[in-house]
Amino acid sequence: METITSLFAQSGNDAYFGEPVTQLEHALQCAHLAERAGADTETVVAAFLHDIGHLLLPELADGESTLGYMDGYGTVDHEKLGADYLREQGFSEKVAQLIENHVNAKRYLVYKNPMYFARLSEASLKTLEFQGGPMEAGEALAFETNPYFKGILQLRTWDEQAKIPGLPTPDMAHYLTLINELVH
Ligand code: FE
Repeated sequence: METITSLFAQSGNDAYFGEPVTQLEHALQCAHLAERAGADTETVVAAFLHDIGHLLLPELADGESTLGYMDGYGTVDHEKLGADYLREQGFSEKVAQLIENHVNAKRYLVYKNPMYFARLSEASLKTLEFQGGPMEAGEALAFETNPYFKGILQLRTWDEQAKIPGLPTPDMAHYLTLINELVH
């Protein structure tokens, strides 16, 4: 995927908002954690691409005045932006949904589990306000019926762990190979 490679080439070395790793390191670590957990290819690829919406922004900055920035912690709706971009590129609904819901997973877990709230990083807490805060009971119940619910929550746990400076992972080429298995 030429475009995905160039998105990472453009912005992959940017810091991952408020965390001690770059966007590319974060993506590689997240995908690596998914792979180590035995996740299927779609899930591993979703983990690698879950924050692609953040990388799309430099290109959209001119035309999209509605996009909101969260005080230097990225963009509101990056998950939707990324998911729609990948749908356009021919990725499956599963990949798109896992990505589209990774912020909802945080809002769900905060609603469901007070201990989870206490463990969130400073940057994650900061963005939670912009993302609508914790879910309410009805929204949480509806969320549980998503066919990819389990995978969505798993991706969230990898996302949160994928912030370890210097953690060795496979390189981008490895994940591009997996991407090519899904989309030609
Ligand atoms: Fe992330």
